Amino acid sequence: MQQKKGVAILGSTGSIGTQALEVIEAYPDFFDLQVITAQSNAQLLIEQAKKFQPNAVVIVDDTLYSTVKEALSSEDIHVYAGKEALCQVVEFNEVHVVLTALVGYAGLKPTLAAIDAGKDIALANKETLVVAGEIVTQRAREKGINIYPVDSEHSAIFQCLVGEFHNPIEKIYLTASGGPFRGWTTQQLETVTKAQALKHPNWTMGAKITIDSASLMNKGLEVIEAKWLFNLKPEQIDVIVHPQSIVHSLVQFTDGSMKAQMGLPDMKLPIQFALTYPDRFTTDFPRFNFMDYPQLTFEQADRTTFRNLDLAYEAMNRGGTAACALNASNEIAVQLFLEEKIGFLDIARTNEWVMNEASFIQKPSYEDYVAIDAMSREIAFTKHS
Ligand code: NDP
Ligand code: MG
Repeated sequence: MQQKKGVAILGSTGSIGTQALEVIEAYPDFFDLQVITAQSNAQLLIEQAKKFQPNAVVIVDDTLYSTVKEALSSEDIHVYAGKEALCQVVEFNEVHVVLTALVGYAGLKPTLAAIDAGKDIALANKETLVVAGEIVTQRAREKGINIYPVDSEHSAIFQCLVGEFHNPIEKIYLTASGGPFRGWTTQQLETVTKAQALKHPNWTMGAKITIDSASLMNKGLEVIEAKWLFNLKPEQIDVIVHPQSIVHSLVQFTDGSMKAQMGLPDMKLPIQFALTYPDRFTTDFPRFNFMDYPQLTFEQADRTTFRNLDLAYEAMNRGGTAACALNASNEIAVQLFLEEKIGFLDIARTNEWVMNEASFIQKPSYEDYVAIDAMSREIAFTKHS
């Protein structure tokens, strides 16, 4: 019998993590869940551990270690705490693929640890590639491991490239829903509330990415993610707003032919494909019906009102640590917006400010990224204190 695929899910209690568990549950003969982790949602982590019986769990917030340890005392499950443990559990022999479903810069170190240990990566945590795409992709190449995209747009591009990996890409188009504020003016955006920004029209996701989608930062991060995943130049990556979120992205080849990947918006599909590639497993996910969508529409993104998209292109063109600074600033700005300490438009204002104020290193080492991340967070906080 074929060996089962050992999976570690970093961030199993989140939006991607819980959907990944549904995928794993559907194919018990194929997957062997080895590791699950959470930041602080101990209750859900305990529940998941009892149900799935992984080899190990990590609770990053170490004040919750005894809660998790006691709850799982009668189970044959190792319990670890602290962020360093994330880097250790990905190295276990039984782990073949690491799904990075945690949010933000915190994903960088464990992703590098997994690559160094020779594990394939199913990458949801786009911030890792935004911050340090050069180091991450270079190490993956050296180790001969694959990074399978989970992000729906990048999964779409990847699916279009299957059978075409030897053919050069002329251009890619990343589709964007436009978020809840598509068509809004700067004046309208000035008074946007947290509740309004947390209502995405097409996708249910974690809080950070939902705000990023509303501010178009998410699309900016995805442009940088695409550059690293598919080895593209900035001018080869375009964004097109497609409010129905049915066409998940497109590739244009050098003969002018374009391929698109389509389907109803459901993250379980790209999660599953990242874990089962090159195979497609049969699902009972709802199917697309053309009559429900008599029109698929496309329009330009409003980059003047939604500054973050241009800031991401600027960071990508500058290279070095520019995107690391932008990402750090954005993580702080989103946090402050969610705490209702700054307004919606202050997110992009903060990001622009930090990108200009933070030091810049053209050829950074890992330690340089760590330093620029910390400095940029500090600058973003100081601007608002
Ligand atoms: P959620 O906020 O829903 O979940 C995040 C997960 O990571 C939770 O398990 C959380 O634990 C854990 N976590 C949070 N902070 C840390 C930290 N500092 N260290 C370790 N673990 C942490 O996020 P999503 O699932 O929405 O997104 C995860 C990643 O996937 C993001 O990078 C996002 O951009 C990307 N992505 C998400 C999509 C989606 O549909 N949700 C689509 C495409 C990409 P706890 O529950 O305890 O807080
Ligand atoms: Mg996406």
